[in-house]
Amino acid sequence: MRPLKLDSGEMDRLRQLRRTLHSRPETAHREFKTAETIKQYMKAYRPSQVVEHIGGTGLAFVFDGIESGPTLLFRAELDALPITETNTFQHRSTVPGTSHKCGHDGHMTMVAGLAHLLAAQPPQRGRVVLLFQPAEETGEGAARVLADENFLRLKPDYVFALHNLPGYDLHTVITRYRHFAGSSRGMMITLKGKTSHAGEPENGISPAPAAADIIKRFNRLVDDSQDRLKQFSLITIIYALIGEPAFGTSPGLGKVYATLRAYEDDDLAFLSQQCVDTVKSIAQQENLHYEIGWTEEFPATVNDPDCVDSVRKAADSLGLPQLHVENPFRWTEDFGHFTHAYKGVLFGLGAGKQSPQLHNPDYDFPEELLQTGISIFHHVIRDLLKGGHS
Ligand SMILES: [Zn+2]
Ligand SMILES: [Zn+2]
Repeated sequence: MRPLKLDSGEMDRLRQLRRTLHSRPETAHREFKTAETIKQYMKAYRPSQVVEHIGGTGLAFVFDGIESGPTLLFRAELDALPITETNTFQHRSTVPGTSHKCGHDGHMTMVAGLAHLLAAQPPQRGRVVLLFQPAEETGEGAARVLADENFLRLKPDYVFALHNLPGYDLHTVITRYRHFAGSSRGMMITLKGKTSHAGEPENGISPAPAAADIIKRFNRLVDDSQDRLKQFSLITIIYALIGEPAFGTSPGLGKVYATLRAYEDDDLAFLSQQCVDTVKSIAQQENLHYEIGWTEEFPATVNDPDCVDSVRKAADSLGLPQLHVENPFRWTEDFGHFTHAYKGVLFGLGAGKQSPQLHNPDYDFPEELLQTGISIFHHVIRDLLKGGHS
C-alpha cells in the first residue's frame, strides 16, 4: 500500500502550483487561465477522463478504480475575489484589484494533490471525480455545474469538500452532523414613484418615506417573527439609494437591498415571504410601483451523517485535533447545492488562530494545510473504495 504522505518533491510541485494560482487570480465566471493551469498540471497524472467547460469554466478529472463501485466527488473552487491584496511576498497577486482571499488556491491544490496519489495507486473499486468548480463566491457556480449535462453524466454518489477556517487552531477538523452552513439570498427592491420640483414635492411621488419604512420594518422583522422561526435568522440591509444628488429635484426612484440569512431553508422561505408582503403593503400605501429581484442564492449546506463519520474517522486515524461545532456557521457556501442533490459533507479545516480572516486583504492560504487536506481526502477514498464490499 502506498503511504498517505506525498514525498518532498511532490509537495514542492504542489506548493509551486498553489503559488502560481495565487499570483494569477481570476474572479467568478472569468477563471479561464486558472482552469488552463489546472488542466496542464493534471496531464502528468493521466486521468481516465477529462470533462471541460462544466457550468462555464469548470472541469472534472475522473480516476477509475479497478472494480466497479460508488463514485466519490471532491470539489474545489476556481474563483478569486475582487479584493486588492496587501501582502508583499513573492507569490502576491499580479492582477490589480483581484486576489485569492478565500484560500480557493489552496483548496484547488489539495484536490490536485489527490491526483498524485490516484495515479500512483488507483482505488480498489468505484471511481473518484476531482471537480474544479467556477464562481463559488457569487453563489452561481454550483447551480450551473449541477444543471450541466456533462456533469450529470458523472453521476456522483457522494460529494466532499472542505473550507479552511481562520480563527481555529491549525489542522483542526471542524465538523457538524446535518446543517453545517446557513442559507442566504440577496433581495433587491426597486421603488418607482414620480420626480417633481423640489419646491413642489406634492406634485410627485417620492419613494423616500417608503424606503425608510422598509428599512425600519426589516430591522424588526426577525424579532417580530420569533414564534414562527425555528432557528437563527437575520436580515441585513446592505445598500439603499433614493433619487439623485440634485437639490432641485424631489426623487422618483428608490432602491433598498438586503441580505436574508437563516440556518434552515424553511426559515429563509418564511422570511422571504414576510419581506415581500412588507414591501407590497408599504408600496401600496405610498402609491409606488415596486419590483423585487433575488440574487446570490445559497441553500443551506446539510451534511450526511455517514459522510461526516467518514471524515471524522480519517481525522482520528491521522491523529488530527477535532471540533464538533454546536451551531451551524452563519456564512453560506454554494456547496449547499451539492448537498441538496447528493449525499455529502462540507467540513472545516482550522487555518490558525493568528491567520487573517477570509476575505481580508492580508489573508493567504496556509500551505501547512496542503498535506493535511490531501491526507483526509485520501483516507476517505481508501475507506469508502476499499475492496471486499458488495
Ligand atoms: Zn469566500
Ligand atoms: Zn471560499
